[in-house]
Amino acid sequence: MSEFDLIRRLHRRINAIDESSSSGCVVGIGDDAAVLDIPRNRQLVVTSDTLVEGVHFLKSTDARSLGHKALAVNLSDLASMGARPAWFFLALTLPAADLEWLDLFAAGMGDLARPLDVVLAGGDTTSGPLSITITALGLVEPGTALTRDGAGNGDLVVVSGWLGHASHALETILAGGTPQPAGRAALECPEPRLKLGRQLRGLATSCIDISDGLVADLGHILRASSVGAKIDIDLLPGSAGLAGLTDAQRRQLQTAGGDDYELCFTIPMNRQSELDGISKECACPLTVIGKINTSDELVCTTADGTVFVPKEGGYDHFL
Ligand code: ADP
Ligand code: MG
Repeated sequence: MSEFDLIRRLHRRINAIDESSSSGCVVGIGDDAAVLDIPRNRQLVVTSDTLVEGVHFLKSTDARSLGHKALAVNLSDLASMGARPAWFFLALTLPAADLEWLDLFAAGMGDLARPLDVVLAGGDTTSGPLSITITALGLVEPGTALTRDGAGNGDLVVVSGWLGHASHALETILAGGTPQPAGRAALECPEPRLKLGRQLRGLATSCIDISDGLVADLGHILRASSVGAKIDIDLLPGSAGLAGLTDAQRRQLQTAGGDDYELCFTIPMNRQSELDGISKECACPLTVIGKINTSDELVCTTADGTVFVPKEGGYDHFL
């Protein structure tokens, strides 16, 4: 199979053939570069994320999950900015042209992309150790993108969904066990909180997606906003997926586990009542876990007020 056949096969399996024509993709796959129509009165929001075998996913991860996750982690970045995803580019490094693998990979990616009308507009294909880089492009109404730098004193800190499931599943797999279905789904098939991100425009004063652990990622908001925060980590919703863990194990996973792809955001205190409606609309829990203050540090406590410090504050590739 030639490189060209491989690209065509990927393309056909990820998007319906006629999709690119209706998506603002004036020139798509097949030319030297894509030409995209940006609608009037929209700003372009662009993000890029790489998944490397052995670093971001286990060798045993099946191709379908990988296809889903590679796109999902990029869409999660668009969600945290309040953007609506429109196009993506796929730079794929493959050890071999394994058709069975490729078809499953494309199926996982396509199943996420098609219902969202996100169109594959180009990419690059090379041979080498398995690595997947996606660049995703989204659109947002001018001036409404959510950023990390707007958290203010007294704002409430809110987290969507559930934390710790993905990292618990990973720990279980690494220990030779079988994770619970909910945990495996969180690890391999995270659902980017796109609808929530859109709803937070005009409400959230700052927003980030939690990929490296709550403490690390909330820390990014605090530094960018030059504020501090106090949060009660026992307010985070527990769930069946974490049943059987000690409080200490659960707290560690929920604050530093990573791979959650939930949103952490801040809102003005006097707008807390709006969370209920958004939570229902997005069918996901929204939990107020604490408050922004004028210090320059993040203090985590447990329900009884004891200070909790996670063993490590998230993943860093160079530490
Ligand atoms: P060039 O050599 O001019 O860079 P390529 O042969 O790399 O062109 O790519 C040809 C076309 O196929 C381009 O439109 C490119 O965007 C697209 N393409 C290449 N690899 C991928 C991929 N993995 N996924 C989607 N499109 C791809
Ligand atoms: Mg090329």
